[in-house]
Amino acid sequence: MASLKNASTRNPAQFSPAATSNLDLVDRSSGFRLQRLRHYSFYPATVSLLYVFGGLCWLLAVNPILANWLYGTPSSPLSDQLPNILAIIASGGLFYWLLRTHDKTAHRTKRAQDIRLVEFIEQITDVAFVKDRQGRYALFNSAGARLAGRPAIECVNQDDSALFPAEVAHKLMEDDRRVIAGGTLLSCKDTFTIRGDTRVFLSTKWPYRDADGNIIGVIGIARDITEQKQIEERLRRARDDLDTRVRERTAELLTINRTLERQIAARVQAEIALRESEERFRQMAEHIREVFWVFGIEEERLLYVSPAYEEVWGQPIAGLQERPLEWIEAVHPDDRPRVQAAHLAKRKLGHLDEEYRIVRPDGTIRWIWDRGFPVHDETGYVYRIAGLAEDITVRKLAEDQLRRQQVELARMSRLSLAVELASNLAHELNQPLAAIVAYTQACLALLRQPQTDPRELTGTLDEVVNQGLRAGGIIRHLRELVQKHPATQTTLDLNALIRAVIHYAELELRQSGAVLKLELADSLPTVLADDIQIQLVILYLLRNAIEAMNETAKRSRKLTVRTSSPDPETALVTVCDTGPGFGADTAERLFQPFFTTKPSGIGLGLSVSRSIVESQGGQLWATPNPDGGASFHLALPVYLNSRAPLSRP
Ligand code: ADP
Repeated sequence: MASLKNASTRNPAQFSPAATSNLDLVDRSSGFRLQRLRHYSFYPATVSLLYVFGGLCWLLAVNPILANWLYGTPSSPLSDQLPNILAIIASGGLFYWLLRTHDKTAHRTKRAQDIRLVEFIEQITDVAFVKDRQGRYALFNSAGARLAGRPAIECVNQDDSALFPAEVAHKLMEDDRRVIAGGTLLSCKDTFTIRGDTRVFLSTKWPYRDADGNIIGVIGIARDITEQKQIEERLRRARDDLDTRVRERTAELLTINRTLERQIAARVQAEIALRESEERFRQMAEHIREVFWVFGIEEERLLYVSPAYEEVWGQPIAGLQERPLEWIEAVHPDDRPRVQAAHLAKRKLGHLDEEYRIVRPDGTIRWIWDRGFPVHDETGYVYRIAGLAEDITVRKLAEDQLRRQQVELARMSRLSLAVELASNLAHELNQPLAAIVAYTQACLALLRQPQTDPRELTGTLDEVVNQGLRAGGIIRHLRELVQKHPATQTTLDLNALIRAVIHYAELELRQSGAVLKLELADSLPTVLADDIQIQLVILYLLRNAIEAMNETAKRSRKLTVRTSSPDPETALVTVCDTGPGFGADTAERLFQPFFTTKPSGIGLGLSVSRSIVESQGGQLWATPNPDGGASFHLALPVYLNSRAPLSRP
């Protein structure tokens, strides 16, 4: 009991006031023990009485009969037996005292055990109880009393139906019945709702037996495992959550892994392809005649120069490693500032397109066409510039020569045309000159008459002036034709130009008696060309057509000048005659220099005309007419459209 009080002092929350009540319960709870001890309490008296009774029977009944039978002596009087009787009674009392002492010691031991049991039951935080066979609580610890919501003392001798809700009580009592009926331990997990609070209990019950093994009640213990269950539930959820996340992450990793595998495979393939491509590229770069170079933007130096550098620059490629700017030092001094500026700009612009000259160590000059283009990384950043430096010396010289030839040919053509025009235009000049002479003579004749009023001469003299101006215009135009001037391109209305040219061919037309027919398209697009040169070409074609028709019968001579636009990019002039024409096999020969079938011909007109037309981006060709005669076609590119050279049909 002292220890139990100490325990109460140590943990007042657990034992007050229920603990105090449970101290009272010790006696009550030990009622089961007392039943058993009560059985033992008869034992010393009974044994002692039986001993005394047996001793007296022996002394007073059996011993006289046995002595008489054996020895034939009569039994001694009772007074003689008195000391023996007292001795038996005294020894019986002593025997009783001994047994009683022993019993009390055993009872105290048992009581101490009961107290320790109650103390133990009281100490534990689980619900602990002892019930009798009728389900009444003989012992209910503080934890159980708190569950029932009343002091422990009030729970004693109450059954579950008095302490708990009907559902809970029914289940508890049912379990008790099963324990008592089966005589075995029962363990179960229950969820009870008591006063609105739902808790989970793990209960264990077993039969409470007396010394003879008879079931006299039920002992049980119940642990509130609600928090544990909640923790377990949280743990289970956390584990499930973790499992889910692990599964999701694993799936993600698998997907990433597969993607990575694919990317690695693709990258390996790409690297192989790149290596092959680089190898092909290297072989190509090392065998082309152009100098292939790669400039690193960040490195600010040439990263690669192909071996053709040695052939083009005439310098060893190794020199570039020691003096990276050696290549630019070879650039002609006149071109060098421009080239340096272009190469500096290429770092920002990403491209380069320059023509320049270099002076090789042997003093020869080469023309270089240097082009660069940007190389992007996968983010689009320009990190390199690759380029080709091509030796275009041969082409450049050919171009120069061609340009000189063209200029010379144009000049020659103008000269030759002018010579021929001069004879034709002489007729034109004859007319105004003859008119001037006639008008002047008329004026003189009138002036010689005394009565002539000079004012009457005004109209005649005006005519003289007009004819003089006309002659001057003809001469001025002739000078324009023979002047050596570079071609200047202007927008031209071909229809108007044809009408102007016809004017210069009128005399020849009249002389040949040919009928002129103009079929000029209404909405002919303008072209960009040199008007003087195109006038010359058309005049050449008209003159050739008239000369060709002079070989045929006069009445069938018909000259048709037609304009059209066969496609949106082309304007076409066709000069069609009814002359003898030419064989299909000679169509191209007509344009060869010095090809002529005329006794006094030079054979330069058509070749010069073609050169002129092609220098303007056009084409000139001839076709025989199906019904005789020839057609000459002059095609020129339309202004504001593609300036690509036209293809001849
Ligand atoms: P030339 O007039 O001095 O002969 P061209 O180059 O003008 O030189 O002409 C070359 C040749 O092309 C002519 O000699 C002639 O044989 C031929 N030719 C030119 N125009 C015609 C034409 N309209 N019909 C037939 N043949 C022509």
